[in-house]
Amino acid sequence: MQETTKKQVKKYTSRAQLVEDIIQWNDWAGSATKEAEYVQTLKDIHARLLRSSADKFPLVEFIQKHKLSQAELFLLLRISVLDLQRIMIRSFFQVPYLLEKGQVFGLRQELVSILLDRKSVLFAEGIFAFVDGQIVLKRNFLSAPAVKKRRLKKRTLNPKRILAELNKYVIGQDEAKKQVVAGVFEHLIKCANTKKGQTFNKSNIFMSGPTGCGKTYLLQCLADILKIPFVHADANQYTQTGYSGMDVGDILRPLGKYAKGGKWPISIVFIDEIDKIRQGSEKYGSSSTNVQAELLRMIESNFYRLELKQTAKTIVKIDISQVLFVVGGAFENLQVKHADKTVGFASTPQVQERTLSADDYIAYGMMPELIGRFSYFVQLKGLEKDDLRQILLNPHHGPLQQYKELLHTSTQVAPEIIDNLISNAFERHLGARGLHQQVGQLFQEAFLENKVQIEI
Ligand code: ADP
Repeated sequence: MQETTKKQVKKYTSRAQLVEDIIQWNDWAGSATKEAEYVQTLKDIHARLLRSSADKFPLVEFIQKHKLSQAELFLLLRISVLDLQRIMIRSFFQVPYLLEKGQVFGLRQELVSILLDRKSVLFAEGIFAFVDGQIVLKRNFLSAPAVKKRRLKKRTLNPKRILAELNKYVIGQDEAKKQVVAGVFEHLIKCANTKKGQTFNKSNIFMSGPTGCGKTYLLQCLADILKIPFVHADANQYTQTGYSGMDVGDILRPLGKYAKGGKWPISIVFIDEIDKIRQGSEKYGSSSTNVQAELLRMIESNFYRLELKQTAKTIVKIDISQVLFVVGGAFENLQVKHADKTVGFASTPQVQERTLSADDYIAYGMMPELIGRFSYFVQLKGLEKDDLRQILLNPHHGPLQQYKELLHTSTQVAPEIIDNLISNAFERHLGARGLHQQVGQLFQEAFLENKVQIEI
């Protein structure tokens, strides 16, 4: 790691670089050498600290009061260890050195100063103990062996549990959620039980549903729950290989960093806007067939010939058997078009959503060979006002909650404003996306009225 003096403070241009340096500096993190693992460890500490109650654990109050970031929390723990070491083994750590380190890692100076006062020693004593010449965390808080054990422990997952977790985030779409979970689970089982050299037919998924109804969100949440990489691509951006623009192989490139020996990781690739490359579409005309054929080449096989862009014309054969493909689109004119019935006393026509089949998609302009590669056809519904209300107020990841967390505020939004937001979003036919836009506008007004401040 680069030595830093007081005059020359290293500036970080990326988070990865910062984390890399923290890892190098920190011998306490032990075996957590990979960034992902390390960040997970930090998140775990953070979450556990926040769950503890302030009276049991004085540090919690401190964290809440100062709204510590994960990096700051890490330093707090680290500096507490150093402080404790200083007292217990009588070695001497210079205060300017710690301040300097604090600045390098983005710790606010006032926090470092607070940490260095006598109270921080008390905090430290509450957390750490000195056993067999080593500093360990008390109350099984995060002792090194416990961390190791947790990392090695495999998670047992079953579709029911995955679905229950997904339900916390994705509102409505019950049938779609079940089908997608089943498809992805089938894929995981195939990946786990396939021996080296064997191949299997994938359980690829075809999705349709109006814009903003949660196609992308459902898959993203599922990938997060399963802790597997997720790639979202827009079919509209691709051209046939050899033409200018992005080619279909670009979809797979982001996963390269997780590949082991040419084998791409267990992952979900979502190719959105597939309906925009239908045969005869305005943008593509007859070349849409070529783009569809390129996609087919990628989706149907367990291997793909990927061109390495940096070295001209080098092609490598990669194993993509563990990549599950999902394609999706709004299929606007297909989805909803039976607005001719009125029911009971309702004066507005009831819009019915038709169940779509593979034949409908082929008639729409998708290549039959491409459609033939999908095992699951999943149809999402347009969101109703009740769904929008639940999404808006969802404490897990709802738009209001997201803004509140971002701004560290507990401001309550008046019920009539909530009703307004929901009605507007519903009428604009943008699904939950309309909610995000409107909540954004609401908070923008707060920014402009000077109710929120930030120091940079
Ligand atoms: P699309 O169907 O067009 O892919 P998205 O999944 O991108 O729609 O939805 C946009 C945003 O709206 C998501 O990021 C999410 O916050 C919210 N959202 C959409 N549908 C749902 C849903 N069913 N439950 C919860 N949030 C949703």
